[in-house]
Amino acid sequence: MKTHTLGFPRIGAQRELKFALERHWRGESLPDVLPQVAQDLRARHWLAQRHAGLDVVATGDFALYDTMLDHALMFGAVPARFGFGTGPLDLDQQFALARGNAAHPAMEMTKWFDTNYHYLVPELSEDQAFTLHADAWLDAVREAEHRGLAPKPVLIGPLTFLWLAKVPGLATGADEAAAKLALLPRLLPCYAELLRRLEARAVPWVQIDEPVLALDLPAEWLDALGTAYAAIARPHLKVLLATYFESVASTLPRLAALPVHGLHLDLVRAPAQAQDALRLWPRDRVLSAGIVDGRNVWRTDLRDALDCLAPLREHWGDRLWIAPSCSLLHCPVDLAQEQRIDPQVRSWLAFAVQKLDELGVLKRALLDGPAAEARALADSDAAVAARRAHPVVHQAATRARVASLTLEDASRGTPYAGRRVVQRARLALPAFPTTTIGSFPQTSEIRVARARHRRGELQQDQYETLMRAAIAEAVQEQEALGLDVLVHGEAERNDMVEYFGEQLSGYAFTEHGWVQSYGSRCVKPPIIFGDITRPAPMTVAWTRYAQGLTPRWMKGMLTGPVTMLQWSFVRDDLSREAVALQLALALRDEVVDLEAAGIAVIQIDEPAFREGLPLRRADWPAYLDWAARAFRVCASGVRDDTQVHTHMCYSEFNDILPAIAAMDADVITIETSRSRMELLNGFGDFAYPNEIGPGVYDIHSPRVPRAEEMLALLRKAREVIPDDRLWVNPDCGLKTRGWDETRAALQQMVAAAQTLRQEVSAAA
Ligand code: GLN
Ligand code: ZN
Repeated sequence: MKTHTLGFPRIGAQRELKFALERHWRGESLPDVLPQVAQDLRARHWLAQRHAGLDVVATGDFALYDTMLDHALMFGAVPARFGFGTGPLDLDQQFALARGNAAHPAMEMTKWFDTNYHYLVPELSEDQAFTLHADAWLDAVREAEHRGLAPKPVLIGPLTFLWLAKVPGLATGADEAAAKLALLPRLLPCYAELLRRLEARAVPWVQIDEPVLALDLPAEWLDALGTAYAAIARPHLKVLLATYFESVASTLPRLAALPVHGLHLDLVRAPAQAQDALRLWPRDRVLSAGIVDGRNVWRTDLRDALDCLAPLREHWGDRLWIAPSCSLLHCPVDLAQEQRIDPQVRSWLAFAVQKLDELGVLKRALLDGPAAEARALADSDAAVAARRAHPVVHQAATRARVASLTLEDASRGTPYAGRRVVQRARLALPAFPTTTIGSFPQTSEIRVARARHRRGELQQDQYETLMRAAIAEAVQEQEALGLDVLVHGEAERNDMVEYFGEQLSGYAFTEHGWVQSYGSRCVKPPIIFGDITRPAPMTVAWTRYAQGLTPRWMKGMLTGPVTMLQWSFVRDDLSREAVALQLALALRDEVVDLEAAGIAVIQIDEPAFREGLPLRRADWPAYLDWAARAFRVCASGVRDDTQVHTHMCYSEFNDILPAIAAMDADVITIETSRSRMELLNGFGDFAYPNEIGPGVYDIHSPRVPRAEEMLALLRKAREVIPDDRLWVNPDCGLKTRGWDETRAALQQMVAAAQTLRQEVSAAA
């Protein structure tokens, strides 16, 4: 029986990789420093695996920037537009692909399945040739062997590599999928040669990840599995086919027909597939049980895990392996560093290092009986019991409120058409009203003040004085620009989730719980451990202050329940739907309090609404239903004449437009400028019923757009959106921009709106 991990976080417990990368990019370190830091990190992570008693260590899971990029490089799939040839590339060329350079934009980046990790999308041409450059990948195998460790190299499988790639020039869809699949016969020789080299080194096992099996793959792709794995199989090298993030139960008979020697299943996300495996996965092959949660921070309930593993052990004997559900990449590194978190909550957590230890405990308990691990099991039982009994975990009032939610609670009552009449009368806005998405530049003064406040160097009242000054400045700027609906600018907010999480009960925060998002970028998601309550209003004082500075309407600004959920580590003892409703109720109280404070326009941001979509389409309707309901619960406590806005970014909304409409926000502002208003076609076809502010310029770029460009976009928007429902705004918040460019861009935007008003009234 083996214990292993599918992969380990590479960023380092102290984010060593991040800092080494950034020093390298700034030219502050000698060229050989970064590779040395990388080698040390690999060694440290292997030792952690060895110390935990794992039988093999994962190699090939490390990357300086991204593993998909490394696979593209390994196969010579370097985008031709850079002019670098097919490789091998030096470090600076590799980083140019990842980050762009003066002449070429970076390779596109997108989310790895439903995680918050972003990979670089390989760019392939329809006649793509592949050549193998495997030195770096094989060096890692050698490095591990030199340290006396047993390597288990990890590869992203050929189908996953191709499915996740793109063919520039072909629109995403059936044609592109066919073009990518047509490249498979050209790619397979590279995999075959790689596996041959491993076999020659007498490496016993290779892990090949095919997470695309968690998606609804077209039949042709599933059919290609057989030929692909036959083409790369070697007589003396065993293949562990790794799946994760969803059940592959429906594909099991097909997988059993492949020439592979083991299969890894994610039994955390999809525990029921253990039963399917007992029926359908052969007894004489390895089954790797992904029993420790690789996606979340909770300590494993060892008793529960043993109950699940026992029948598998019975069936597969020593051919049962034990592993985390997926790579530990998605977990923070080491809980031992967390000294400030509530010790009670801490005792319920396990980060990557602790999860490795859990594998060892499970193995010994299976081999020698539970008595051999009595102490660890008792600790686990105690943690489970303490968590169940903790008062914050069970707030009777919150539970009762969620249980008694009615249909009316999730509805504004009056339909939009009726609300609109009273809102227009109250707000008296001009045609094509102008507004912004919420944040204004987070200047260095603001950031320094917040850092000093956190360190205790600034008193609360001193800090608040500075933030009020920043708000007043933002209000003045907006009045001078002639914007119609103002915002306070979010100077006091560090992060749109953390800011609210810190003021809600049921949330905990780590000091070092960083998870790689992309390249050197890391996020530190807060942890939802208990039932959510709102001890006090969170934004009312700031918003009231801002409204008092101006006769124009001031928009209240909140983060919505789905985004709060999506960008946190969420408790695993309650459904996501139930947690979303708890958050929705806490935010609903805030919305009602803002209304009572005289705020007439309230925006509830849901940028993460789409990324909560399940991997399999069959699960979409249920998600969209509860996600839209959570939003409505949050938004529906107010009068008809209070206008609710929402904001979403990142394109590809067309397939979920009905659900977005079901949120029933009075106004949605949405990112569209980069896709040249492509999105609007969707809104035209679907006849979105309420008001829309399609972003008229891209805030991600420092470039100042001209009024004419925005006017052109607005004219296009008028083809599908009625004049009395069209808003004018940038496509996202402005916190990352400087004031000069922001002022200049908004001047142009306001001018565009004014010209449009003249055009339209002249035509009438
Ligand atoms: N109100 C937020 C802001 O302007 C919205 C951020 C987002 O969409 N991610 O910063
Ligand atoms: Zn946005």
